[in-house]
Amino acid sequence: MIDSHCHLNATDYDEPVQDILKTAGQVGVKKCLAIACDVNDFDELKNQLKQFPELFGAVGIHPEYADKPFDIDVLRQFIRKTPRIIGVGECGLDYHEMGKNTKLKQETLFKEQIDLAHELGLPLIIHSRDAEGDMRTILKAAYKDGKLKNGFVLHCFSGSIDMAKETVKMGGYLSASGVITFKNATKLREVFSTIPLDRLLVETDAPYLAPEPYRGKKNQPAFVVRTLDKLAEVKGMTVDEMDCITTQNFNRLFLGEKA
Ligand SMILES: [Zn+2]
Repeated sequence: MIDSHCHLNATDYDEPVQDILKTAGQVGVKKCLAIACDVNDFDELKNQLKQFPELFGAVGIHPEYADKPFDIDVLRQFIRKTPRIIGVGECGLDYHEMGKNTKLKQETLFKEQIDLAHELGLPLIIHSRDAEGDMRTILKAAYKDGKLKNGFVLHCFSGSIDMAKETVKMGGYLSASGVITFKNATKLREVFSTIPLDRLLVETDAPYLAPEPYRGKKNQPAFVVRTLDKLAEVKGMTVDEMDCITTQNFNRLFLGEKA
């Protein structure tokens, strides 16, 4: 199993990150993609990548920092110099946390990262919250310009069937988080039931969004098992089959493996 999206800042957890990863390994979560989306967290991620062979990394600037000035070259240089960084992100649009007053700044920051991912030949990890219309417009334009050729994932996907279809059409992936296990997420499970198998990923987004039966607690990569279980149920498959499919998808998107 692979947790395709988690945050492993030591200060977010009660136990050392080493123990968190050990627990994950014990339940079969053998790889994790750790995301640093605040420039202040980049060095911690770099050290973790040196320390833990089961980790891959991705770096980007989250839309919640769109208000702060940022030099995209910092990101470019960090990615170039850091081994095992396999994606740009998470980046995107968030009108829930930030409000629409930073819309233009968010768009600029996001587009810079779309360009950077294209330049560096890396997939994009995209965060989209309450911004589906603008997200769709930006992605369609980028797709038309050939800037999404390295692939992308809408992480923690909670959007509409239409958005899922559009994403698939553009070659993108959709990642299921713990939210699909929530009792009231009937509609989201319906959306996931329509997504082609070769476009699905699973993630925790730890330390946030713990799946049932841990909802409300601190999330960790080991809990991705619950999301995988639910996704298998939604797709009418065994957990092993779903594991195999989502692992292949991860390897294809992020490691360029042809499977
Ligand atoms: Zn995240």
